[in-house]
Amino acid sequence: MPKNRTEVLVDVCKGCGLCVEFCPKKIIRLSDDINSSGYHPAEIIDQEKCIGCGFCYLICPEPAMVIYREER
Ligand code: SF4
Ligand code: SF4
Repeated sequence: MPKNRTEVLVDVCKGCGLCVEFCPKKIIRLSDDINSSGYHPAEIIDQEKCIGCGFCYLICPEPAMVIYREER
């Protein structure tokens, strides 16, 4: 299990792409799949590279991002 991890609540995501743009590690993309609302949801390409910065969470207009941070 990676130390920092991001989860997309697929059916809450509106596919706006803001998180894709703002992730400093460039590990988010829009999926080819379509969610229950008809949007292409965000997906995390490489959890291992997530630094838990929370930018995707902060920029997301929906409550679609959940960040799990390493405990220190
Ligand atoms: S927490 Fe930061 S590094 Fe991780 S997916 Fe979100 S924006 Fe990218
Ligand atoms: S910012 Fe939020 S709504 Fe927009 S694509 Fe990312 S997870 Fe989906």
